[in-house]
Amino acid sequence: MPRHKLPVRTAEYFLALLLCTPFTSSATEPATLDNHQNTISLSGLLQHSDIALMPEGTNGPPDTMLPLKPTVVAWGNDAVGLLTRPEVLKKRTDAYRQLGIKLLACNVWMLTATDRVLYDQPQYQHATCVDIAGTRVVPPWLDSNYKGVKPYWGCTNHPLFRQQVIARAKAGINAGANMLHLDDHLGTYAAAQFEGACFCDHCVRAFRDWLSEQYSPDELKALGVEEIESLDYRQLVQDAGFQTLAEYRKGTWAKKVPLHDQFLAFQREAAGAFVKELGDIAAELAGRDVPVGVNAFNLSPTQLSDAHIADFFCQRSGTLR
Ligand SMILES: [Zn+2]
Repeated sequence: MPRHKLPVRTAEYFLALLLCTPFTSSATEPATLDNHQNTISLSGLLQHSDIALMPEGTNGPPDTMLPLKPTVVAWGNDAVGLLTRPEVLKKRTDAYRQLGIKLLACNVWMLTATDRVLYDQPQYQHATCVDIAGTRVVPPWLDSNYKGVKPYWGCTNHPLFRQQVIARAKAGINAGANMLHLDDHLGTYAAAQFEGACFCDHCVRAFRDWLSEQYSPDELKALGVEEIESLDYRQLVQDAGFQTLAEYRKGTWAKKVPLHDQFLAFQREAAGAFVKELGDIAAELAGRDVPVGVNAFNLSPTQLSDAHIADFFCQRSGTLR
């Protein structure tokens, strides 16, 4: 196919929606990226004429995008599965750079360590979200399976999974990206909202700490917590009669699960704090500000819960065929 023709026959193009915050300046100069400056102002770098894309994977080779004259890649390469092969990640990143991309994100898929990694490194199987019955959660839209191991939902409150997510972000920056994009940025908060999770030891412990910081002893007593020090939230929920996922789901619908609103608030704040932490880690590694984007799918209220932290949103918004 001639390079000047748009390969609409097979390619899927995902147009990135960039809503940049804050708009701190009005740029009149052509957008450039000064490697010596310490900050990146998206409003100062983006031009109305910029074309932002969000590929890796489904769009095929980067040069198929040339007819669109892209200048921003808002999703980018993902180090998932490539942590032991940084040279491959670097090569893919360089391919974008050679196209003249000025703002290049690296993506971190925060949903799962992947079935392959969970099989190869089984310790990560213990860093996954579990429901009230202790069953590992599988994202319902994922149906892959590697030698019997499913892509279990990683718990973003578990130190081991956090460590892997951080390693992926660092790998992307080290490969040459100057923005960070987070897919499934809500982490365990989404699992709590929609999949009846997470009741792992780390979530239960962190929730107890969060409650003690949020409420006075009298307020906790009013909520039914007599002694915060000995609170085991998983046990509290089970003792209230919600021992299976089905019972728990019914209970949340009926608003009968104790402290459920507080549990969701805790998970929401924990997810936002992790997004901020990832951005800070990327910036420290890069030695400059690193704009952070999130896949705020459909821009729903839940997905926008960390909008005050993100610098841009990037989501699938259309398909050309
Ligand atoms: Zn957990």
